Amino acid sequence: MSTGAAIPKTRPSGSYAPASLAQRSSLLAAVLSQGLSINTLRHVVFVYFVHSHLLRAWRHVRAYGVTPSIYRLYLTLSRAVIALMLRIPALKRKVKTELDAAQAGIEAKLVVRPPPGLRVSETNHALPQHGKDRDWVIGALQELQRLETGKGAEEDGEQVWRSGRISGAVYHGGDEMSEVITQAIGRFILTNPLHPDVFPGVRRMESEVISMVLRMYNAPPTAAGTTTSGGTESILMACKAARDWGNARRIKRPELICSRSAHAAFHKAADYFGVKLIEVEVDRVSRKIRLEQVRRAMNGNTVLLVGSAPSFGEGIIDDIPGLAALAKRAGILCHVDCCLGSFLVPFLERAGQPSEPFDFRVDGVTSISCDTHKYGFAPKGSSVIMYRSKELRRFQYYVQPDWTGGVYASPSIAGSRPGALIAGTWAALMTMGDDGYTQSCAGIVGAARQIESAIRNEIPQLMVLGKPLVSVVAFASAGKVNIYEVGDHMSKKGWHLNGLATEPPAIHIACTRLTIPVVDDFISDLKASVKEARTRAAQPGAMAQLYGLGQTSIGPGLVGEMAARYIDALTTVAD
Ligand SMILES: *Cc1c(COP(=O)(O)O)cnc(C)c1O
Repeated sequence: MSTGAAIPKTRPSGSYAPASLAQRSSLLAAVLSQGLSINTLRHVVFVYFVHSHLLRAWRHVRAYGVTPSIYRLYLTLSRAVIALMLRIPALKRKVKTELDAAQAGIEAKLVVRPPPGLRVSETNHALPQHGKDRDWVIGALQELQRLETGKGAEEDGEQVWRSGRISGAVYHGGDEMSEVITQAIGRFILTNPLHPDVFPGVRRMESEVISMVLRMYNAPPTAAGTTTSGGTESILMACKAARDWGNARRIKRPELICSRSAHAAFHKAADYFGVKLIEVEVDRVSRKIRLEQVRRAMNGNTVLLVGSAPSFGEGIIDDIPGLAALAKRAGILCHVDCCLGSFLVPFLERAGQPSEPFDFRVDGVTSISCDTHKYGFAPKGSSVIMYRSKELRRFQYYVQPDWTGGVYASPSIAGSRPGALIAGTWAALMTMGDDGYTQSCAGIVGAARQIESAIRNEIPQLMVLGKPLVSVVAFASAGKVNIYEVGDHMSKKGWHLNGLATEPPAIHIACTRLTIPVVDDFISDLKASVKEARTRAAQPGAMAQLYGLGQTSIGPGLVGEMAARYIDALTTVAD
């Protein structure tokens, strides 16, 4: 592939070697003596400043269009005004009181106080004075696990996630496979791939996992990859590699383009690595990234175009050939986010389901992320990032040749890594095999299609977003109901669905193997919830409240603050 590989030839070093201070000041003296006054210089700087700002504004308007640009400006300004108003002491106090109350509510819900009589009923704020024996620890672990049932100490109950009433979250490959994975993890518990000479078995399993996933995605023989700790890290690495690839081409202000349906990890990457992210709309009907807008958003700073196969929220596969062609023509990179598609999309055809192009067979696709810990059923903390060439993968590495601790070289963010997870992943892939994944794809995708067709044909108050082909079905109100209220009624019936801040507002279910046996329950509960949301003008529930707030101009700031307090609360130890 031409776009990925070659690093541009550098110019003869003399032509842009940094000038010494003396050289520079004599240059300035020469410029001044040639009749350029300080005023003229000031003028030049001013013109440069205005020019670069105008260029940025022009690119912004071209990327987003006139009306949306004005709307964005309005949003930015109104948020700034609200932020200013919230500095008024009286208002600030009032908001703080309300936030504190909400936080107390969150903590009351989150911080679990185990019922008395358990080994773990006393909270451990510090190390125990004397270490506990094996039986105590194992018994305590059993009790902690029992908390997942939501039941008291004596009652028996199954873990909540086993009910199958949770969207995504738990990608369970069956109890037998969990046992094999546990064995694998146990055997390799102390290993660390940072020391391949000490742990050759882990090195071999890691290279085999990468190779298996490359094959699944029809990578050319030149392709290469690494394992990472999850989808987010895979995406971070793809964006970091694209930034450094751009730097090698002297692109100092790199930009990436993705759609509003792309995963939050791309925003995180842009934030961490100083890449500008341009977010384009999805088509109203197909829900795919709008290529026309991508084209308008591209400029000399663009290093990466991003497509999803499929997206997290709406479960839609973008037009990957269209995106990749745009990237190839511009000589830039194209990433496909298959984190969720993982071990489903490559098996769609063999499972007898319709599919769309998504992998390295599409000319112009330069990197793909695939989560082994989603539909690959590997233990959490496992993903693979792939590149079309080894040269491209190089841009991901971090190497520090003159560290006092020795030459330091690592492929991804972590230094030391858990070899046990690699062993667990290898065990999962070997246990499932091609036929196992084909079968699980047929079951999971079949469940999603059943839900989709029930909504389309039997629930006229709802509409499915786009034409999903994989495991996610997102649906919005067709007019008469508030979709978030439907979500709240589903919560009351024990379902954990995801609210989406899409336009139109929607909720989704991501089917897993656990969903398959409860598809009929889902459909009948959804019908009932729609009825209840229509007839009862109830107090808005949690989902309706949260997403309602997000749609106001004060919302995003407050929701952001609440989200941070939520994370704070997670590490609060009960008294
Ligand atoms: C889950 C997911 C990710 C990120 O994965 P994590 O493993 O949670 O870090 C990225 N993209 C999509 C489409 C996903 O569904």
